[in-house]
Amino acid sequence: MSEQKKYVLPESEIPTSWYNIQADLPEPLPPVIHPGTLQPIGPDDLAPLFPMALIAQEVSQERYIDIPEPVLDIYRMWRPTPLIRATRLEKALGTPAHIYYKYEGTSPAGSHKPNTAVAQAFYNKAEGVNALTTETGAGQWGSALSMACNWFDIECEVYMVKISYQHKPYRRSLMQTFGASVTASPSDTTNAGRAILEQDADSPGSLGIAISEAVEVAATSGGAKKYSLGSVLNHVMLHQTVVGEEVVKQMEMADEYPDVMIGCVGGGSNFAGFVLPFVRENLVNGKNTRFVAVEPTATPSLTKGQYVYDFGDTGQMTPLIKMYTLGHSFIPAPIHAGGLRYHGMAPIVCHLYDLGLIEAVAVPQNPVFEAAVLFAQAEGIIPAPETAHAVRTAIDEALLCKESGEEKVIVFNLSGHGHFDMASYDAYFTGTLPDYEYPEDEVERALAGLPQIA
Ligand SMILES: *Cc1c(COP(=O)(O)O)cnc(C)c1O
Repeated sequence: MSEQKKYVLPESEIPTSWYNIQADLPEPLPPVIHPGTLQPIGPDDLAPLFPMALIAQEVSQERYIDIPEPVLDIYRMWRPTPLIRATRLEKALGTPAHIYYKYEGTSPAGSHKPNTAVAQAFYNKAEGVNALTTETGAGQWGSALSMACNWFDIECEVYMVKISYQHKPYRRSLMQTFGASVTASPSDTTNAGRAILEQDADSPGSLGIAISEAVEVAATSGGAKKYSLGSVLNHVMLHQTVVGEEVVKQMEMADEYPDVMIGCVGGGSNFAGFVLPFVRENLVNGKNTRFVAVEPTATPSLTKGQYVYDFGDTGQMTPLIKMYTLGHSFIPAPIHAGGLRYHGMAPIVCHLYDLGLIEAVAVPQNPVFEAAVLFAQAEGIIPAPETAHAVRTAIDEALLCKESGEEKVIVFNLSGHGHFDMASYDAYFTGTLPDYEYPEDEVERALAGLPQIA
C-alpha cells in the first residue's frame, strides 16, 4: 500500500475543458418556465441578466466545453488543487477505510467558488459588461466574485445576507479590499428588500432575499449591469467540474477508485463539480460509485423538500425552476453554515436525486462542528462550517467501515477553509450553538405558497 499523502498534478494537467452532464443524462432536465406565460423560457428571457455565452452554456448539450485560455491562465494561480489522503484521520478513527479529500481551500478566496467566478467575469467582460450584481451568504461567493471582477476590471455590487454581514465582518472587508461595494440584505435600496423590511424590520435575511435584490438592481439598470449567481445554475455546475476532472486523474495516480464520494450542498455547486465526472463514469463506463449530498437539518431541501416548480428567489423575480424546494418564502434558521441556507437546490443535482443516481442526508450543526474539530486536529485544516457537513458524513461512513471491517475508498470535497468562520467555532466551543431540527411548520407554510404548475 502506498504511503503517499498528497497527489499533486502538474500545471500541464489542468483540465482544458469542463464536463457537461447534460450530454449524458438518461432523461433531459425539465425545462425552466416563464412565470407569466408558463412556457419554457428562451435565451431572450435571460438576456437582461446574463451574457449570451453563459445562457448558451445553460442549455448546451455538448459533452465538453473548452475552458478559455484567459480563464485557464488564472486557474493556474492555484489549480490543480491537491488530493490528500487523510491518513492521520484514518488512524484517529481506527478505520480500515481509505479517506481522501480534495482541497479547494487553496484558492486565493479560500473555496471552490473562484472556479466559476473567474469564468463568469471573463464571459461578461467579453460581451462588454462593466458591472455585476450578486448576492452572498457567508461571503465566500461575494469574495470570489469581487476578486474575479477586480481582475477583469468589472464593478461588483454584493448583497450580503444580513445575519452573515453581522457574523462575518471580515468577509465584508475582504470584498471591499477587492473593490466591491457590499450592502446588508434585506436593504432599503430595492423594492424587494423594502417589502421584506416592512413585514419584519429585524429579518436576518436569506439567500432568496439577497438574490431578489441583486436581480432587481441588474434587471432595472437598463442594461448597464448584469447579474451573477454563484451556484444553482447549470453553467455554474459546469465550471465546477474542473474539480472532479482533476480528481479523476488524481485517483488514477493513487491507483484507487472511489466507493463513495461526499460533498456538502447549499445550491449544489461544489458537490456537483466534484462528483459529475464520476457520475459520467457510472453512466457511461459501468462504474458503481455512491454519491452522497449532505445538507443541514435546518434547510433540508433534498431530504424534506418537494420536487416542484418554484422561484429561485423570495421576491419572485426569477423564472420557475423545477427543484427540491422548501418554498421561496422559507427563511432558514441562522445556522453558521451561511452558504447552505438556501431554500432550493441546483436543478442538475435535483434531477440526479430524482433519478436515484445520488443520495442525500441531513445533519444538525453540533455533530457537524464535532466532526470539523476532529478533522482539524488530525489533518491541521480548519474546514468551513459548510464543508464540515461533508466531513461529518465522511467520518460517519468511515466509522461504518470500522464496524464492518470494509476497506472502502471514501473521497470528500473539502470545499473551503474556515479561517473567516472562527466565530462559529467559538459558539461551538462555548456550547451556545443550537441544533435546529426540521422546521416542519415553516416549510409547510412556505410550500403552501408555491405556484401551481402541472
Ligand atoms: C458556498 C459554499 C458552499 C455551498 O455552496 P454550493 O454551491 O452548494 O457548493 C459550500 N462550501 C463552501 C466552502 C462554500 O463557500
